[in-house]
Amino acid sequence: MRLIFLGAPGSGKGTLGEMVSRATGFPRVSTGDLLRKAVREGTPTGRKAEAVMKAGGLVDDAIVTELVRDRISAPDCLGGYILDGYPRTVAQARAVDAIDTGRPELAIDLTVGEESIVERLCGRRVCPACGAVFHVNRKPPQAAGVCDACGGELIQRSDDAPDTVRERLRVYREATAPLEDYYRAKGTYRAIDGEGYAEDVYARIAALMTKEGRPL
Ligand code: ADP
Ligand code: ZN
Repeated sequence: MRLIFLGAPGSGKGTLGEMVSRATGFPRVSTGDLLRKAVREGTPTGRKAEAVMKAGGLVDDAIVTELVRDRISAPDCLGGYILDGYPRTVAQARAVDAIDTGRPELAIDLTVGEESIVERLCGRRVCPACGAVFHVNRKPPQAAGVCDACGGELIQRSDDAPDTVRERLRVYREATAPLEDYYRAKGTYRAIDGEGYAEDVYARIAALMTKEGRPL
Protein backbone atom coordinates (compact mmCIF):
# COMPACT_ATOMS: atom_id res chain seq x y z
CA MET A 1 0.00 0.00 0.00
CA ARG A 2 1.13 3.53 -0.78
CA LEU A 3 -0.61 6.34 1.07
CA ILE A 4 0.08 9.77 -0.33
CA PHE A 5 -0.72 12.81 1.77
CA LEU A 6 -1.52 15.69 -0.51
CA GLY A 7 -2.56 19.09 0.81
CA ALA A 8 -1.15 22.57 1.16
CA PRO A 9 1.75 23.44 3.45
CA GLY A 10 0.33 23.46 6.96
CA SER A 11 -2.60 21.19 6.08
CA GLY A 12 -1.39 18.63 8.61
CA LYS A 13 0.33 16.15 6.30
CA GLY A 14 3.21 15.59 8.72
CA THR A 15 1.09 15.24 11.85
CA LEU A 16 -1.55 12.99 10.30
CA GLY A 17 1.03 11.05 8.32
CA GLU A 18 2.84 10.29 11.56
CA MET A 19 -0.37 9.15 13.30
CA VAL A 20 -1.27 6.87 10.39
CA SER A 21 2.31 5.59 10.31
CA ARG A 22 2.06 4.53 13.96
CA ALA A 23 -1.26 2.78 13.29
CA THR A 24 -0.17 0.92 10.16
CA GLY A 25 3.53 0.42 10.79
CA PHE A 26 4.21 1.93 7.35
CA PRO A 27 7.16 4.31 7.51
CA ARG A 28 6.44 7.97 6.79
CA VAL A 29 8.65 9.31 4.04
CA SER A 30 8.80 13.10 4.23
CA THR A 31 10.83 14.83 1.54
CA GLY A 32 10.81 18.00 3.68
CA ASP A 33 12.47 16.06 6.54
CA LEU A 34 14.90 14.33 4.18
CA LEU A 35 15.87 17.66 2.64
CA ARG A 36 16.26 19.43 6.00
CA LYS A 37 18.52 16.58 7.13
CA ALA A 38 20.62 16.95 3.97
CA VAL A 39 20.89 20.70 4.64
CA ARG A 40 21.95 20.11 8.28
CA GLU A 41 24.55 17.60 7.19
CA GLY A 42 25.82 19.85 4.41
CA THR A 43 25.64 17.11 1.74
CA PRO A 44 25.81 18.13 -1.96
CA THR A 45 22.02 17.72 -2.14
CA GLY A 46 21.60 19.86 0.95
CA ARG A 47 23.80 22.59 -0.46
CA LYS A 48 21.75 22.68 -3.67
CA ALA A 49 18.42 22.68 -1.82
CA GLU A 50 19.04 25.15 0.99
CA ALA A 51 18.44 28.49 -0.76
CA VAL A 52 15.40 27.24 -2.68
CA MET A 53 13.78 25.96 0.51
CA LYS A 54 14.48 29.17 2.36
CA ALA A 55 12.72 31.11 -0.41
CA GLY A 56 9.70 28.79 -0.36
CA GLY A 57 10.33 27.39 -3.84
CA LEU A 58 10.47 23.78 -5.01
CA VAL A 59 13.66 21.76 -5.08
CA ASP A 60 14.45 20.09 -8.43
CA ASP A 61 12.25 17.10 -9.27
CA ALA A 62 15.32 14.98 -9.98
CA ILE A 63 16.88 15.69 -6.58
CA VAL A 64 13.81 14.90 -4.49
CA THR A 65 12.93 11.90 -6.63
CA GLU A 66 16.39 10.45 -5.95
CA LEU A 67 15.84 10.86 -2.19
CA VAL A 68 12.46 9.13 -2.46
CA ARG A 69 13.79 6.34 -4.68
CA ASP A 70 16.48 5.53 -2.10
CA ARG A 71 14.12 5.66 0.83
CA ILE A 72 11.26 3.58 -0.59
CA SER A 73 13.60 0.86 -1.80
CA ALA A 74 14.66 0.20 1.82
CA PRO A 75 13.34 -3.10 3.23
CA ASP A 76 11.04 -1.44 5.77
CA CYS A 77 9.00 0.06 2.90
CA LEU A 78 8.27 -3.30 1.24
CA GLY A 79 4.85 -3.72 2.87
CA GLY A 80 3.84 -0.12 2.38
CA TYR A 81 4.81 3.47 3.02
CA ILE A 82 3.36 6.91 3.49
CA LEU A 83 4.49 9.80 1.31
CA ASP A 84 4.35 13.22 2.96
CA GLY A 85 5.23 16.22 0.80
CA TYR A 86 5.93 14.12 -2.27
CA PRO A 87 4.85 14.22 -5.06
CA ARG A 88 4.51 17.97 -5.32
CA THR A 89 4.45 18.19 -9.12
CA VAL A 90 2.88 16.06 -11.82
CA ALA A 91 6.40 15.08 -12.97
CA GLN A 92 7.11 13.73 -9.47
CA ALA A 93 3.82 11.82 -9.47
CA ARG A 94 4.76 10.17 -12.76
CA ALA A 95 8.23 9.39 -11.37
CA VAL A 96 6.98 7.53 -8.31
CA ASP A 97 4.52 5.59 -10.46
CA ALA A 98 7.44 4.52 -12.64
CA ILE A 99 9.70 3.62 -9.68
CA ASP A 100 7.09 1.52 -7.88
CA THR A 101 4.47 0.49 -10.40
CA GLY A 102 1.14 -1.13 -9.63
CA ARG A 103 1.17 -0.69 -5.87
CA PRO A 104 -2.32 -0.15 -4.41
CA GLU A 105 -2.59 3.51 -3.57
CA LEU A 106 -4.69 6.21 -2.01
CA ALA A 107 -3.96 9.91 -2.39
CA ILE A 108 -5.48 11.65 0.63
CA ASP A 109 -5.93 15.37 0.12
CA LEU A 110 -6.23 17.25 3.43
CA THR A 111 -8.32 20.30 2.62
CA VAL A 112 -7.84 23.32 4.85
CA GLY A 113 -8.82 26.98 4.34
CA GLU A 114 -6.07 29.47 3.65
CA GLU A 115 -6.68 31.42 6.89
CA SER A 116 -6.09 28.31 9.00
CA ILE A 117 -2.96 27.56 7.02
CA VAL A 118 -1.35 30.91 7.65
CA GLU A 119 -2.28 30.75 11.34
CA ARG A 120 -0.91 27.21 11.66
CA LEU A 121 2.39 27.86 9.90
CA CYS A 122 3.24 31.21 11.42
CA GLY A 123 2.61 29.84 14.95
CA ARG A 124 4.50 26.60 14.37
CA ARG A 125 7.64 25.93 16.45
CA VAL A 126 9.85 22.91 15.91
CA CYS A 127 12.58 21.11 17.82
CA PRO A 128 15.59 20.66 15.52
CA ALA A 129 17.03 18.07 17.93
CA CYS A 130 14.18 15.53 17.90
CA GLY A 131 11.70 16.76 15.27
CA ALA A 132 8.80 17.42 17.67
CA VAL A 133 6.34 20.06 16.46
CA PHE A 134 4.46 22.58 18.62
CA HIS A 135 2.21 25.58 18.07
CA VAL A 136 2.25 28.74 20.16
CA ASN A 137 -1.56 28.65 20.63
CA ARG A 138 -2.86 25.25 19.59
CA LYS A 139 -0.20 23.04 21.11
CA PRO A 140 2.10 25.10 23.31
CA PRO A 141 5.05 23.37 24.99
CA GLN A 142 4.95 23.21 28.81
CA ALA A 143 7.74 25.78 29.06
CA ALA A 144 7.85 28.45 26.35
CA GLY A 145 10.55 27.76 23.77
CA VAL A 146 11.56 24.39 25.24
CA CYS A 147 10.82 20.95 23.73
CA ASP A 148 8.62 18.76 25.98
CA ALA A 149 10.14 15.63 24.50
CA CYS A 150 13.88 16.29 24.77
CA GLY A 151 14.44 19.69 26.39
CA GLY A 152 15.88 21.12 23.17
CA GLU A 153 15.41 24.74 22.19
CA LEU A 154 12.42 25.34 19.88
CA ILE A 155 12.83 27.42 16.75
CA GLN A 156 10.65 28.79 13.98
CA ARG A 157 11.45 27.18 10.63
CA SER A 158 12.95 29.88 8.42
CA ASP A 159 10.34 29.10 5.75
CA ASP A 160 7.50 29.70 8.24
CA ALA A 161 8.08 33.47 8.11
CA PRO A 162 4.95 35.23 6.70
CA ASP A 163 6.42 36.22 3.30
CA THR A 164 7.76 32.75 2.67
CA VAL A 165 4.45 31.20 3.72
CA ARG A 166 2.68 33.28 1.07
CA GLU A 167 5.19 32.14 -1.55
CA ARG A 168 4.80 28.48 -0.54
CA LEU A 169 1.03 28.80 -0.93
CA ARG A 170 1.44 30.35 -4.37
CA VAL A 171 3.76 27.53 -5.43
CA TYR A 172 1.32 25.00 -4.00
CA ARG A 173 -1.59 26.37 -6.04
CA GLU A 174 0.49 26.48 -9.20
CA ALA A 175 2.49 23.23 -9.07
CA THR A 176 0.82 20.90 -6.57
CA ALA A 177 -2.92 21.54 -6.75
CA PRO A 178 -3.01 20.03 -10.30
CA LEU A 179 -2.18 16.66 -8.71
CA GLU A 180 -5.84 16.42 -7.79
CA ASP A 181 -6.69 15.82 -11.46
CA TYR A 182 -3.81 13.38 -11.84
CA TYR A 183 -5.04 11.17 -8.99
CA ARG A 184 -8.71 11.59 -9.91
CA ALA A 185 -7.86 10.17 -13.32
CA LYS A 186 -6.16 7.19 -11.63
CA GLY A 187 -9.20 6.74 -9.36
CA THR A 188 -7.12 7.02 -6.18
CA TYR A 189 -7.98 10.59 -5.12
CA ARG A 190 -9.81 11.06 -1.79
CA ALA A 191 -10.48 14.44 -0.16
CA ILE A 192 -10.62 14.67 3.64
CA ASP A 193 -11.66 17.73 5.63
CA GLY A 194 -8.44 18.79 7.36
CA GLU A 195 -9.91 21.50 9.61
CA GLY A 196 -10.01 21.15 13.38
CA TYR A 197 -8.05 19.01 15.81
CA ALA A 198 -5.66 16.34 14.58
CA GLU A 199 -7.66 13.67 16.46
CA ASP A 200 -10.82 14.60 14.54
CA VAL A 201 -9.04 14.57 11.19
CA TYR A 202 -7.54 11.21 12.12
CA ALA A 203 -11.04 9.84 12.81
CA ARG A 204 -12.11 10.95 9.31
CA ILE A 205 -9.10 9.19 7.79
CA ALA A 206 -9.80 6.07 9.84
CA ALA A 207 -13.40 6.05 8.56
CA LEU A 208 -12.14 6.39 5.00
CA MET A 209 -9.69 3.52 5.43
CA THR A 210 -12.44 1.30 6.83
CA LYS A 211 -14.60 2.13 3.83
CA GLU A 212 -11.68 1.27 1.55
CA GLY A 213 -11.37 -2.14 3.21
CA ARG A 214 -8.06 -1.25 4.88
CA PRO A 215 -8.97 -0.39 8.48
CA LEU A 216 -6.25 1.26 10.54
P1 ADP B 1 5.37 22.03 4.01
O1 ADP B 1 4.56 20.91 3.45
O2 ADP B 1 4.90 22.50 5.33
O3 ADP B 1 5.64 23.14 3.03
P2 ADP B 1 7.79 20.40 3.85
O4 ADP B 1 8.59 20.08 5.06
O5 ADP B 1 7.04 19.30 3.20
O6 ADP B 1 6.84 21.56 4.35
O7 ADP B 1 8.72 21.08 2.74
C1 ADP B 1 9.59 22.14 3.02
C2 ADP B 1 10.29 22.61 1.76
O8 ADP B 1 11.10 21.55 1.22
C3 ADP B 1 9.37 23.00 0.60
O9 ADP B 1 8.91 24.32 0.71
C4 ADP B 1 10.30 22.78 -0.61
O10 ADP B 1 11.21 23.85 -0.75
C5 ADP B 1 11.08 21.55 -0.20
N1 ADP B 1 10.42 20.31 -0.67
C6 ADP B 1 9.86 19.34 0.11
N2 ADP B 1 9.33 18.36 -0.63
C7 ADP B 1 9.55 18.69 -1.92
C8 ADP B 1 9.21 18.10 -3.17
N3 ADP B 1 8.53 16.92 -3.24
N4 ADP B 1 9.59 18.74 -4.30
C9 ADP B 1 10.26 19.91 -4.26
N5 ADP B 1 10.60 20.53 -3.13
C10 ADP B 1 10.25 19.94 -1.96
ZN1 ZN C 1 12.98 17.82 21.05
